[in-house]
Amino acid sequence: MSINIEKIRADFPILNQKVHGKDYVYLDNGATTQKPIQVIDAVSDFYRKTNSNIHRGVHFLSDQSTKAYEAVRKKVQNFINAEHEHEIIFTKGTTDSVNLVAFSFGEKFVDAGDEIIISAMEHHSNLVPWQMLCERKKAKLRILPFNKNGELELDKLPGLLNEKTTLLAVTHVSNSLGTINPIKDIIETAHKFNVPVLIDGAQSIQHEQINVQDLDCDFYVFSGHKIYAETGIGVLYGKEKYLKEMPPYQGGGDMVDHVTLEKTTYLDTPFRFEAGTANYVGAVSLGVAIDYINSVGFENIAKHEAELLKYATESLKKIEGLTIYGKAKNKTATISFLLDNIHHYDTGMILDKLGIAVRTGSHCTQPVMDFLDITGTVRASFAFYNTFDDVDRLVEGIKKVQDMFA
Ligand code: PMP
Repeated sequence: MSINIEKIRADFPILNQKVHGKDYVYLDNGATTQKPIQVIDAVSDFYRKTNSNIHRGVHFLSDQSTKAYEAVRKKVQNFINAEHEHEIIFTKGTTDSVNLVAFSFGEKFVDAGDEIIISAMEHHSNLVPWQMLCERKKAKLRILPFNKNGELELDKLPGLLNEKTTLLAVTHVSNSLGTINPIKDIIETAHKFNVPVLIDGAQSIQHEQINVQDLDCDFYVFSGHKIYAETGIGVLYGKEKYLKEMPPYQGGGDMVDHVTLEKTTYLDTPFRFEAGTANYVGAVSLGVAIDYINSVGFENIAKHEAELLKYATESLKKIEGLTIYGKAKNKTATISFLLDNIHHYDTGMILDKLGIAVRTGSHCTQPVMDFLDITGTVRASFAFYNTFDDVDRLVEGIKKVQDMFA
């Protein structure tokens, strides 16, 4: 089976409109993905028929809401093949999930003088929370570098790992370079030193089937909005053996066992990490998005996106005065580039006037830009609903930009 692109595009109403009078070309999927009508309708239906706060109601709709929310926990468990349902914690997104681990794991397991390893290609979301933790606990942040092609220098990893290392946090896919990191090897190496590994899955969950047990990662985090669901919902997967030991991140309703004015006891995972009214409607949207992706099939998604990447890379390479940043052998369908003597903002603004949405700037990876000695790039990031025609429009647009600046 291959992808039925017309049928798929018909499911995404936002793609079928004109922007600045032109057919819309959306190439900013790394920032957020568009939503299929199935997700949009499910959210609207939920508010029409089911909405009620979860977990504490005895009435009919509260029970329905609770069942819908908990069913998605089970769905996510199956989607990423977690061993236990209670290893799935709903959060606001990747950033929230990383902060939860940095605070809670940090409280329990990180002491002064300990070390945490991250890579030099992390999104600020998987960098700043670790810096904050290290400052708080007087621990040391150690950095795994990458080379000019945008590939991690894995030979340097064993030299960074030692008995003081408490955690390694690394992105599966770089949002600014497109590199797919060999996380299975990284996890295996870290585990030889008994170091748990957190994987930032913000840019991988939408492109390939994740199997957390096969990867043997200790934490895996992602955002719903990057996988065709709503904003404000995300997931933290954590191995039971760590979650059970970790203290709550936030206090409030829904996470408590017994409260007196003097002392509170907490529920077990996952509830102890879900204080306050959860984004249960967001969770419902995530469940529908997962069904949608499964109906398209990861094999089809991967094949189509690989073809788009190949065609786009070959087409962009032919343009004189265009430099691609991020030349890893194993890449996702994301291309960062610059045009000679043209600022990335100017390129992005002109492409926008031509109906083409790309992202410009540092993509929340300022250290990556510093390493490359540039201030930012233009980034075209593809999803399975993009077409070869979208690539042609991008190429045409880039040529117009160059003509205007000639
Ligand atoms: N990590 C990576 C690799 C990302 O691409 C992003 C989003 N750009 C994040 C983390 C943060 O995700 P969110 O803003 O949804 O929390």
